[in-house]
Amino acid sequence: MIKNGPFIPGASPATWLGVMGGGQLGRMFAHAAQAMGFKVAVLEPAADCPASHAADHFLCADYVDAAALADMGQQCVAVTTEFENVPADSMTRLAQDAFVAPSAACVAIAQDRMAEKRFFTGCADASGVLPAPHHLIRSSADIETVPDHLLPGLLKTVRLGYDGKGQARVASHADLQAAFDSMQGAECVLEKMLPLACEVSVLVARGADGNASVYPIAENIHRNGILHTTTVPALHASADAAARAQAAALVFVDRLDYVGVLCIEFFILADGSLVVNEMAPRPHNSGHYTIDACVTSQFAQQVRAMARLPLGDVRQHSPAVMLNLLGDLWFAGDGADAAPAEPAWEKILALPGACLHLYGKEQARRGRKMGHVTFVAPTLDAARASLIAACAVLGLAP
Ligand code: ADP
Ligand code: MG
Repeated sequence: MIKNGPFIPGASPATWLGVMGGGQLGRMFAHAAQAMGFKVAVLEPAADCPASHAADHFLCADYVDAAALADMGQQCVAVTTEFENVPADSMTRLAQDAFVAPSAACVAIAQDRMAEKRFFTGCADASGVLPAPHHLIRSSADIETVPDHLLPGLLKTVRLGYDGKGQARVASHADLQAAFDSMQGAECVLEKMLPLACEVSVLVARGADGNASVYPIAENIHRNGILHTTTVPALHASADAAARAQAAALVFVDRLDYVGVLCIEFFILADGSLVVNEMAPRPHNSGHYTIDACVTSQFAQQVRAMARLPLGDVRQHSPAVMLNLLGDLWFAGDGADAAPAEPAWEKILALPGACLHLYGKEQARRGRKMGHVTFVAPTLDAARASLIAACAVLGLAP
């Protein structure tokens, strides 16, 4: 029986919240939930994952393990997910016993680039934004019907892509055929390559009561398909583009009847127009700055939404720049035989406004997200000065 009304933290016996997935997002979610007095169960197949060290109860099991899902549903009043590729069927199963937010239906849309684009297109009447021009490619026959104006473009797998994985740049129909062949039969979508002036993301949260609140827009720089820095307030987005992105985000959560935190990525083009790229049905890497720079972090907001408590104040109290810390920093040099070396955290922590977050991953690998550091300061210039100094310490181009 799923109880109506809010789930009260700090109760005795304890109120449990569950999270599907044990990565860094699950770990930071657990920290936020525990700070509010909840207990947290984590379900994840990988032992020793980042969230396992924070969880009050760690269910080390496959995401579709019937016994583990039953345990999770029995123990927890509400369950969420920290990654979009959680099997939607597992979320449906959990919904028999617990309040599941976001719903399996919302997660399923975000798992499928075509469903996502159809959803965005269907909202355009109210949101005023469209996705990039695109063409579904399920077979070689679909390649023949690709109009020339979509090239050059980016071929993306419809499912399971992240951090630029499952993508290929293509300039011609021949490239497209070769790229499609390399995707091993996976359904793909070709997107026209757009002239990006900048990339921004909008975090929005919606409660079970339908109230929603939207964070300031964040400007993101990616390197090799992976988020490198997030700057808030955004430096290169006009106030008008920011307001349009925020308004569109509110349309999306309402149309989805969404409960929880949702992150939407947008492109701003050279002519100032806005294009919606994709959405993540969860807290997002580009929202990590909220931990140190906003009254309510994205993780605390997720806790409030899934516990049907009032949403928190999204006000940003300090300008902030977030730098992702990838596994490459744990090696002395770029070569394949580079020796392992721990970065000089004492030098990073000596910088003004430094808030260091490490995810407790034992093994560093190149491109693996090991942590992040957010610099907060009274002015964005001061936060950026710390970022530039940190990059010098870490041997990164800022
Ligand atoms: P992922 O799921 O890997 O984050 P995205 O669709 O966000 O996939 O693409 C990764 C990055 O590739 C984007 O952040 C952007 O820099 C670039 N990109 C994606 N689509 C386009 C496009 N249509 N035109 C230009 N650049 C794009
Ligand atoms: Mg993306």
